[in-house]
Amino acid sequence: MAGVNGSRDAASKTKESRGRETGVVVDGVGKTYGGSGSGESASVRALDDVSFAVERGEFVCLVGPSGCGKTTLFRIIAGLIDATDGTVRLGGMPVTGPTTDMGVVFQEYHLFPWLTVEENIRFGLDRTDRSMADKDDRVTEMLELVGLTDFRDAYPKTLSGGMKQRVAIARALAVDPELLLMDEPFGAVDAQTREMLQRELLDVWQSTGKTVLFVTHDVSEAVTLADRIVVMAAEPGRVRDVVDVDVDRPRERGDPAFGKHVAHVRDLIGAGE
Ligand code: ADP
Ligand code: MG
Repeated sequence: MAGVNGSRDAASKTKESRGRETGVVVDGVGKTYGGSGSGESASVRALDDVSFAVERGEFVCLVGPSGCGKTTLFRIIAGLIDATDGTVRLGGMPVTGPTTDMGVVFQEYHLFPWLTVEENIRFGLDRTDRSMADKDDRVTEMLELVGLTDFRDAYPKTLSGGMKQRVAIARALAVDPELLLMDEPFGAVDAQTREMLQRELLDVWQSTGKTVLFVTHDVSEAVTLADRIVVMAAEPGRVRDVVDVDVDRPRERGDPAFGKHVAHVRDLIGAGE
């Protein structure tokens, strides 16, 4: 019993500190791969002094050319690899490893092929202390959210790419994370499916109020989705600029304001190369 009370105290402390700083703060993050000081293998400075913040409930896209360190930054924020310098904080707490406060969606679907849609979505929930009934309700709710109620018992190999990525999004959201973190999640689907998934993701974001950090190299995708765009440059990976997207939603690609933002971000990416 003491253990239960102890963890409740810890939980309420976490909530208090969240009140002081919400969202994601990336603070002076640097990453050097290899080299280990021996001078034999060449080291790569993948990220250098990257700083930006994502407010709670905000939708931020990270764009930049291939190799500018987007995936590296994504993996550091997700707690999958360590930064060489700087820190990442979520809700005021330093990220030191993977946490259920973040739902992570990769470019490759990363579904478990031997599990059904339902079991894939339930996977993270089974690592929480929710009751069985609560988990069942949550899975049903997530299936509805991504429109896959009829595919509850299907296996991933029978699904299209777009449906697989919907399962991955449902799985990421099932544990009700603070942040949804996505790395080029629609990179492997055709253009039409991609636009549909973008609209669906915006619906999910608006209905759940989650904070979203979305990595893409597709400037139009970023302008379609984001409140703000963090534009990165390569060698070393760094923040070039942060652009506010002042275009009303739903956004139309034919809207001159849309085109203006796309051109501006493309100019920023092209500058200095
Ligand atoms: P992006 O996702 O923007 O394409 P990455 O984060 O994948 O960029 O890569 C950034 C840089 O770091 C590249 O030069 C890449 O070759 C290098 N890099 C990425 N992962 C590793 C690794 N595990 N070991 C060594 N270098 C790496
Ligand atoms: Mg990448």
